[in-house]
Amino acid sequence: KDELLRKSEKLSIAGQLAAGIAHEIRNPLTALKGFVHLMSHSESYVQRFLPIMKEELERIELIISELLMLAKPQATQMKRVDLGLLLKEVLVLIDAQAILQNIVLEPNIRESYCYIQCDPNQIKQIFINFIKNAIEAMPQGGMIGVEMGVQDEREIRVRITDQGCGISEAQLRLLGEPFYSTKEAGTGLGMLVSYKIIEHHGGRIRIESSVGHGTTIEVFLPLAGFS
Ligand code: ADP
Ligand code: MG
Repeated sequence: KDELLRKSEKLSIAGQLAAGIAHEIRNPLTALKGFVHLMSHSESYVQRFLPIMKEELERIELIISELLMLAKPQATQMKRVDLGLLLKEVLVLIDAQAILQNIVLEPNIRESYCYIQCDPNQIKQIFINFIKNAIEAMPQGGMIGVEMGVQDEREIRVRITDQGCGISEAQLRLLGEPFYSTKEAGTGLGMLVSYKIIEHHGGRIRIESSVGHGTTIEVFLPLAGFS
């Protein structure tokens, strides 16, 4: 393709991303400014607004950390990692939150010694993102299956199944667009970050969903050789 055209496309994508970031961060900042203004008028607002201010600050922090994940140089430290063990660590991390939301995690990780070549923190992050989305899709509670199995001799499959609200055809196409979120407090960066990480690891993802019934996300990652 024409070099100049490619450059201008890149610039316009950068511009869209910058506009999105500015917008996402300006909202909580505007709220914070309002609270500070009120507090400077009356001490009585402090008790009332401090917790909300803390939430807004945490939201900015989350957006920034997800953006940093996107911007990370691709040459990360790759290690040989037992995926089953990594998944178990993720489940321990997330279990307390799940219980609080009336969610039962149903792990089915029979296989052992399934190694992948990866940046373990990044791979943990994708499964945290998917399980969190599954939890958020089930405000009344429910079950989340986390299954790991060998797909063939080259690939390992992790399947995350929820019984949540599901995703429509039209919404499926929007997944991974920066800042696409249907949640009031969503950042709309989780899927984008996850797609990037999976791509970086030579893997792929498949999503199946039925509105009102639930969603299944399958991640395929290349098995590491025995060398
Ligand atoms: P966020 O979680 O901040 O909204 P994500 O990028 O993680 O951003 O997800 C984008 C959108 O994809 C969500 O707002 C939601 O509408 C949809 N989504 C993702 N996973 C699921 C799921 N398991 N069930 C239903 N909807 C989902
Ligand atoms: Mg999310």
